[in-house]
Amino acid sequence: MAVFQHTLKKKVEFSGIGLHTGERVSVKVSPAPAGSGLLIRRSDLGASYIPCTYKHVLSTSHATTVGSGGWSVSTVEHLLAALSGLGVDNAYIDVEGPEVPAMDGSAAPFVYGIQGVGLRLQRSPRRCIELKEEVVVASGGGVVCLEPANHFSISVEIDFPHPAIERQHYAAKVNSKVFRNEIAKARTFGFLREVEWLRSQGLALGGSLENAVVVGDEGVLNGDGLRFDDEFVRHKALDLIGDLALLGAPIKAKVTAVKSGHALHHRVAKALMESAPSWDYSLSPAIEFPSMAPAGGEIPAQVATA
Ligand SMILES: [Zn+2]
Repeated sequence: MAVFQHTLKKKVEFSGIGLHTGERVSVKVSPAPAGSGLLIRRSDLGASYIPCTYKHVLSTSHATTVGSGGWSVSTVEHLLAALSGLGVDNAYIDVEGPEVPAMDGSAAPFVYGIQGVGLRLQRSPRRCIELKEEVVVASGGGVVCLEPANHFSISVEIDFPHPAIERQHYAAKVNSKVFRNEIAKARTFGFLREVEWLRSQGLALGGSLENAVVVGDEGVLNGDGLRFDDEFVRHKALDLIGDLALLGAPIKAKVTAVKSGHALHHRVAKALMESAPSWDYSLSPAIEFPSMAPAGGEIPAQVATA
């Protein structure tokens, strides 16, 4: 049974601070025709849309950056995770500024906003990437492995030599309900002792306890603590889903990621797509998307719908 493509019912806008640049930025996500995929541009520079895919990744240092012809947009991964996790196939993404707003450091505000406007079914079948053989990339102690499967599942492991984190593992067969309830709310995290160095590199300039879990020598510094006991590894799952959205289509695979990051996620996407014999497009569903109920709850103040 084929699954149909979806876009948004109407435009939704998010604004806030960029995690790395610290600049005030905003992003509008609007309905796009079937078959468009996710298209992104810097609207403040009058740039043309480009497909938001692995082919246009410019950097994977501390965030995933896409761009073309002299412009770039950083930190696309949490918005892409929300779009892909909720089953949005087609959308125009207009970014005002060099970075997607950090919001609260998770994908939850994007999920609320997208659910708030709702999805529209389109009359074209959704195609997904069907693996024929295993693809593995490894670097610096990290590994990402894609194995053929009948659905999209992830198994993510992290291991940080800090008593607040240490070894954590999270696994799930991902559908939009699991994404919303278990993954979307997990926030990005950083270590207090690295903040000074990051800032000297021009990174994390907008980072704060409002948009990241900050880990000090004694533990988590955020007053409200963690949203999940294993929030760190769930955030890694969120990043993985966002980075794999750059494949341009959902993937039927069992994805195992151990001590991975944006660079390795990008490398596995590129290795897969550039090895034609190991995959093909298929019209069978990759991910179950339960129909989305209207949001109902509060929409955060940073989200505007039109
Ligand atoms: Zn992240």
